[in-house]
Formats: sequence, structure tokens, C-alpha cells
Amino acid sequence: MLPYLSNLETLPFEDEGERDPAMPSFGWLDLPLEESIRALVGMTSSLLEAESAWVTLVDRNRFCTQTITGKAVSARSDYDCWTRQVLNDNESATFECQDDGLAGDAAGVKAKRFFVAPIQFRGRHLVGCLCLVTQRSTEVHDGLRWMEQAANLIGDQLELRQRRESVRTHRRDRKKEAAAQETKELRQATAIWPQREDFHRGLDRDEFVLHYQPEVELLTGKVVGLEALVRWQHPVRGLVAPCHFIPEAEQNGMILPLGDWGLGEACRQLRAWKDSRAAMRSLRVCVNLSARQFSQAGLVERVESRLQENGLSAMELGLELTESSLSANLAETTEILGRLHHLGVSLHMDDFGTGYSSLSHLHRFPFDVLKIDRSFVQRMVAGAQPLQIVQTILELARVMGMEVVAEGIETEEQLRLLKEMGCRYGQGYYFSPPRPATEIAGMLV
Ligand code: C2E
Ligand code: MG
Ligand code: MG
Repeated sequence: MLPYLSNLETLPFEDEGERDPAMPSFGWLDLPLEESIRALVGMTSSLLEAESAWVTLVDRNRFCTQTITGKAVSARSDYDCWTRQVLNDNESATFECQDDGLAGDAAGVKAKRFFVAPIQFRGRHLVGCLCLVTQRSTEVHDGLRWMEQAANLIGDQLELRQRRESVRTHRRDRKKEAAAQETKELRQATAIWPQREDFHRGLDRDEFVLHYQPEVELLTGKVVGLEALVRWQHPVRGLVAPCHFIPEAEQNGMILPLGDWGLGEACRQLRAWKDSRAAMRSLRVCVNLSARQFSQAGLVERVESRLQENGLSAMELGLELTESSLSANLAETTEILGRLHHLGVSLHMDDFGTGYSSLSHLHRFPFDVLKIDRSFVQRMVAGAQPLQIVQTILELARVMGMEVVAEGIETEEQLRLLKEMGCRYGQGYYFSPPRPATEIAGMLV
């Protein structure tokens, strides 16, 4: 910032052009400010044959702060006094001085004139004055007119510099903004997706959808239940599978609002199917619960109120939990599962066989359904040992009075083997992949 401009009013960039035609630069614009002021003072000096001339800049309280060219501020007390008077009146004036009194001059040889014209910034704010002493007996009127014109030109110079400065600052800011935007975009592109705010946005904009995969009675092929599986219908990324956002949601806690939404949406959809008579038979919708949701206070109450809001009975809802989503706190897990069981919702142990303490969990907690992890189902056809594992799980479930759903059935061969081993229910691409609610409705009648 130019030193003289720092105190001046900052021009809004939008004003650019508004005052341009009124402000001739006379080619001085490309000189440093002081030089252009000197040139203007010099020109006026020549016109009025001045013996000295100077520009005094003032602060907001109209105190002289700086002199450009010529004499110092307060070189003579009467000049000083007249200058203050002009600053107060904000009007140009001229004064006759009988006695020069300046050092080095022959005193009182000839009458002199002291001219002062205020300099205004943007035609409004007083920023200084142009002072001139001459022996020439010019017409006072002409002298004042020239002084005022010169003072106006000086004011214009100040304004032009300031405008130039604000254009520069504006360009610099724009460049900075563009660079910051670029960095932000780059960071966003390379950042881990999704962040908390992405989830908030997704939830606000209804970007999450539930797809439903049928659970089928293997002997009859009848659909007995549906597993609700969340997807993110992202405006840029397309349909995103849960493995790309559920782990992040678990980590940053957004699984709680997302899980709440999923539970509510699954209940609402079942209500809608029942109302439209798409689901004639009794049908159970299963919702996956994450570890955080399981440990969140008020889970049982929330489940209960979602059921009530939608007029559903507890047996129409299944909750799927993996072993890892159960709390490490045994007493807490026992209490929550006990209350959910008491409510009447069906409790499903998901991905059974992938955890470490499967058997002890089965034994200890009131699970109703055991879902054999698809990795066992898929290995089943590979040899005798994996087949035996599935058979053992089925036997175990029978002894414990649990239903079994085999996950990930993809082939006729897998279906045949499971049926032969007495597995009653299954789910997998062989029957149907998870599909949107509208496409599933036709399979429910
Ligand atoms: P999951 O609960 O074990 O769900 C079964 C997954 O296996 C689904 O994957 C389903 O599309 C897939 N699947 C079903 N049949 C077959 C098959 O025949 N072959 C193969 N290869 N895969 C099959 P999806 O939908 O990608 O979900 C993955 C996991 O994400 C789910 O595993 C579940 O743990 C989690 N998840 C999905 N939705 C939710 C949700 O709303 N909340 C929570 N907390 N977790 C969810
Ligand atoms: Mg599941
Ligand atoms: Mg599973």
C-alpha cells in the first residue's frame, strides 16, 4: 500500500469505472505518486511564478502530517495559521503577506501572496492542501482557480493510485482465492471419502436407499423375509455399496443417524407393502445393526417406537448382528439382547462362523436365527471337510432350537446340498440380488 493511501477510504472494487471518465491521468499515473504530485506542484508554480509551493497532507483530525516538495510543515507561523483556517473551512483562500520573514530572504521587499487550496479525495474527503507563495501580482481570482484545479488534479492522482492499488489487491485476492479453491478441490479429491459432512449431506438430500434381498424357504421357494441393505445413491459416484461407507460411518459415528434412518425406512417400507397388499403373507424385514448402534443408549426404545409408529408387530422385524457388533461387555450385551428378545423382535446372528467365539455366543445369548456366512456356503462344493462344517452348524442350530439361513447361495449345486442337509432357509444371488423396493414388491405376493 502506498504510504499516503493507507489512511484513505478503501474503494470497493465494484466502483471501478464509475469515476474513470472524471479523472484524467495526464500520463502521471505511471510515475511514482510523489513524482506526479511534484510535477503538478511544479506546473502550478510555473503558472503562478511561485517562489515556493508544497503539498501538505493531513490526518483525519486535519493535523498536518507530511509535506511533499518545498517547505516543511509549519515553516512560518502565519502560513501555518492560514493553512489551518483553510483546512477548517475546507475552501480555498489567498492571503496577503507583507513580510516574508523566511530565512535567507530579504525581508519585506515586495508584497507576496499565500494561496491555499484544499485537496479532496474522491471529491469528498479532505486529505491535505496545496500551498503556494508568489510575488506575482496575478489576479486573485485566476490564482485561486488555478490552485483549485491543481488541488483537484492532486486529489485525482491520489484516487487513481488507490484505485490501482485496489485493482491489484483484488487481482491478488482473486489469485489467492483461485489457488485456495484449487488446493481445496485437490484435497477433497484425494481425501478419504466419505467424511462426516458427506454423510450429513447425503442424509439431508435423501441420497441413501435401501435395497432388499429375499430370504427364501428352500423347499418351496417362497419368500419369507427380506434383508434391508443400504446403498448410497451418490450424485457423482453413482450407486455406492455399503462396504465403501459403512466402515467409515462406524468410525466417525455417522452410523448412528444412518442406522436410525435405515431402521425407520425399513419399517416404513414394510408398512407401505402391507397397506398396498403387496405383502399378503406375514413377512419379516431384517435390518443390520452395527457395533456402535448396539451400544447406543436407547436402542430398545427406538426399535419399539419405530414399530409402533408404523403399526408393526415385533415379530415382523429382525435385527442382524455380527459377533463383532456385540459389546465386549458381557453384562451389557446380555441385558440389551434380553430386552430386545423380550420385545419380540427376531435376533439374527449374521455371518456366523467368521468370529472367534461363535459357539459361546450362541450358547449364551437369545439368538433366534443363525445365518451361515457365505464363505462356508461357497466352499461347500469344494470338498468333504467344508461340507461337514456346514452340516455341523446345521446340527448345532437344530439342537439349540434356532432357524438357519444359509447366505450367499449362488448355484443350483449349493442349493441341492443345503436342501439335502436339511437347511430350511437361504438367501443369495441364485434367488435374487438385493433390489430396490419397487422391484421387490412383485416377489412378495
Ligand atoms: P451382510 O449383512 O452379511 O449382507 C449380505 C451381503 O452379501 C450383502 O452385501 C449382499 O448383497 C451380499 N450377498 C447376498 N447374496 C450374495 C451372493 O449370492 N453372493 C455374494 N457374493 N454376495 C451376496 P452388501 O449389500 O454389499 O452388504 C455388505 C455388508 O454391509 C452387509 O453384510 C452388512 O454387514 C453391511 N450392511 C449393509 N447394509 C447395512 C446397514 O443398513 N447397516 C449396517 N450396519 N450394515 C449394513
Ligand atoms: Mg446381514
Ligand atoms: Mg451376512
